[in-house]
Amino acid sequence: MLPVIALVGRPNVGKSTLFNYLTRSREALVADFPGLTRDRQYGRLKHGDRPCLIVDTGGIADDAEGIENLARKQVQIALEEADIVFFMVDAREGLSASDKVIADTLRKLAKPVVLVTNKVDGIDAGTAMNDFYSLGLGEPIACSASHGRGIPELLERANELLPPDKEAVDDNQGGIGIAVVGRPNVGKSTLVNRLLGEERVIVFDEPGTTRDSIYIPFERNGKRFTLVDTAGMRRRSKVSETIEKFSIIKSLQAIEKSHVVIYLIDASEAITDQDAHLLGLVLEAGRALIIGLNKWDGLSVDQKANIHRQLDIKLSFLEFAEKHPISALHGSGVGKLFDVVHTLYDSAMVNMSTPMLTRILKEATDAHQPPLVGNRRIKLKYAHQGGRNPPVVIIHGTQTDALPISYKRYLTNYFRTKLHLSGTPIRLEFKSPT
Ligand code: GDP
Ligand code: GDP
Repeated sequence: MLPVIALVGRPNVGKSTLFNYLTRSREALVADFPGLTRDRQYGRLKHGDRPCLIVDTGGIADDAEGIENLARKQVQIALEEADIVFFMVDAREGLSASDKVIADTLRKLAKPVVLVTNKVDGIDAGTAMNDFYSLGLGEPIACSASHGRGIPELLERANELLPPDKEAVDDNQGGIGIAVVGRPNVGKSTLVNRLLGEERVIVFDEPGTTRDSIYIPFERNGKRFTLVDTAGMRRRSKVSETIEKFSIIKSLQAIEKSHVVIYLIDASEAITDQDAHLLGLVLEAGRALIIGLNKWDGLSVDQKANIHRQLDIKLSFLEFAEKHPISALHGSGVGKLFDVVHTLYDSAMVNMSTPMLTRILKEATDAHQPPLVGNRRIKLKYAHQGGRNPPVVIIHGTQTDALPISYKRYLTNYFRTKLHLSGTPIRLEFKSPT
């Protein structure tokens, strides 16, 4: 599973500043789409080599009264959702009583903690940090979130403390990985139970994959699929079991482990900011995406028009995604969903040859040349495949660091169209000799 880092600390130490620094993408691919408010609490690490999720517990626990409550609430979130804790303190203000309260709570937690002394810019870090050894949480790491200092050291320490990186699930031994995600009550359990409950579906009880596991392999029309469950969705129908609380982290981890995400929206309601947040994170994860417009049964003509309008306005950044009306309750559109999943999987896992990619690159640059830098033109020479799920195209050239975002967008669209990709994002990476 994708490791999770929780940011913990009293107010104003710089948690959200660090969160923003760590989760901001260089390319700002997602951020500049209007209508997409950035999620302040959950994000993907954009630095270092290892993909991670980050939770700013301050943003979630900010309604807690008093430092004890705040500490308890933050630590509770870290306990439930994180593999590792970044405990932030303010090097300028020095050790405070609140820091000690949080440290006491954290010490009882059986999770690795990295002590981060923030705001060391412009002060004598050595002296400022001495105090913090007394917290008994090991050697502090000096950093400045607002200046981006100390981050490589911080991530290196995190990497030492995290369990070893396991291979990404690129193989298709378990068939096509499907994650069903969406806000509470949109119909996820209903859809999952329908997907698994159909008589044409065989659910495998393989060693290590009991029905209680989060991976549920099944077969339909001779094809293998694996449903990546987000915690107990299937068991909800049994009254005796407690209702699993909605966890964004679990959703994000299921997204990571899948090939195709079915994101459900309740089409009888509005598309919310939270939908846009979650979908922004699906895009960042690079997964092929079907937006399931659920509860299509019984919608009026006006309601249908309205949901399409909302898709255009609020989710314009997901132009590539397939939009698909269904009724999980009655089953209409669900069979078709399997066909769409197939098509998207083929796109996400496509094999692209170097000559073909290079030819497309040449066509694109012939039709529209890259700009000049100074008086030298940026050259893009050849392209080859760099990965799958999502498809990655690596383009080699000169001065590619100077390529404007607008030209990268042009190329991305050109490749997507020429490669006939459906429902999957595509990533272009540029390399020049240094
Ligand atoms: P949070 O409440 O823990 O999320 O703290 P914020 O991220 O909102 O930061 C609180 C204040 O500290 C803001 O005014 C930030 O600009 C400032 N701040 C955060 N990181 C640094 C830093 O590394 N150096 C300095 N000098 N100020 C910082
Ligand atoms: P979850 O919280 O996303 O897992 O949502 P559930 O599957 O528990 O569904 C929430 C409610 O929506 C339940 O009362 C379902 O019966 C209802 N529901 C689910 N799918 C549909 C649908 O396609 N049409 C209608 N009308 N109701 C649905």
